Amino acid sequence: MNILVTGGAGFIGSHLCDRLMKDGHDVLCVDNYFTGSRHNIFHLLSNSRFEVIRHDITFPLHVEVDQIYNLACPASPLHYQYDPVQTIKTNVHGAINMLDLAKRVKARILQASTSEVYGDPEVHPQKEDYWGRVNPIGPRSCYDEGKRCAETLFFDYQRQYNLDIKVVRIFNTYGPKMQPDDGRVVSNFIIQALNGEDITIYGDGQQTRSFCFIDDMIDGFVRMMESEVGFYGPVNMGNPQEFTMLELAEKVIILTGSKSKLKFCPLPTDDPRQRKPDIGLATRNLDWKPRVPLEEGLKKTIAYFSTLMEK
Ligand code: NAD
Ligand code: UDP
Repeated sequence: MNILVTGGAGFIGSHLCDRLMKDGHDVLCVDNYFTGSRHNIFHLLSNSRFEVIRHDITFPLHVEVDQIYNLACPASPLHYQYDPVQTIKTNVHGAINMLDLAKRVKARILQASTSEVYGDPEVHPQKEDYWGRVNPIGPRSCYDEGKRCAETLFFDYQRQYNLDIKVVRIFNTYGPKMQPDDGRVVSNFIIQALNGEDITIYGDGQQTRSFCFIDDMIDGFVRMMESEVGFYGPVNMGNPQEFTMLELAEKVIILTGSKSKLKFCPLPTDDPRQRKPDIGLATRNLDWKPRVPLEEGLKKTIAYFSTLMEK
């Protein structure tokens, strides 16, 4: 099949390109390199089944493809808040452009949505039928509301044009090929620990997240894309094991053998207090559940960053 991956030079996108190439598909990676890197896809460039276009999805795109994975959008709060208007445009105009493309060429299209659609949730763990608690005018809104609007567009295109859509709500995912300067908690803690610098805990560190290793997420993506016609989602994907940021810091310090100390910093505005997916739907409909425990995934991610820092 001819498969388009938008955001294909980013963290998740580049792993997805690897997987789709391994499965024998022709892959077209589209990226504007805002937070992605050529380094992530460099090894694929010599393969004749792989192609890259430098393109911003807020502008229309005309290509012939069978499937579209729409991942383009900065995922780290640091980067999506850098140019909030561009973040909304990427989520909304970008979704419209990719949906119009899917409509034109009759492609199946999968949207990389997010647990952020639940905002700072009152329901725990979060199930797909929970509508969320999102601040519409805060610094995170460009991303949260942008992704919510993208979901709306996906379901409207489905109802209005009978489009073959799939929507995945991704919970915090980590692993090799995250950008070292990305600002997300796993990469920050590992780099700080490897450099012997203070580990920056935002707030009191009691807020929770559930971390999914990248290989599990990619497996879930492909299962969703290949799932039966009419199963649109949204479907949660993430690892339901929940940790406080203090517990995460402690694990990183032990696994790196670091002498780093903890440094407490202000909690960013609207930072969700707790987050944990209910993955019952993915387990029932896709026979999917994550297999890599946090320690094992952290070891692989630490090894990646250690090698990167030696270069
Ligand atoms: P990332 O920042 O590493 O990758 C995003 C990619 O999109 C980058 O390569 C970037 O250059 C590209 N991009 C951004 N704006 C673009 C535009 N307008 N046109 C073309 N390319 C553009 O982030 P990631 O972690 O790989 O996330 C991928 C997707 O998954 C995003 O849509 C994100 O919202 C979603 N997601 C990720 C997580 C996570 O924990 N990693 C959690 C929830 C949702
Ligand atoms: N965080 C932290 N120290 C850091 C980076 C993040 O304590 O150096 C916290 C952040 O406040 C949030 C959690 O870790 O509560 C996850 O942050 P991240 O930016 O990775 O993703 P989010 O789930 O907030 O989108």
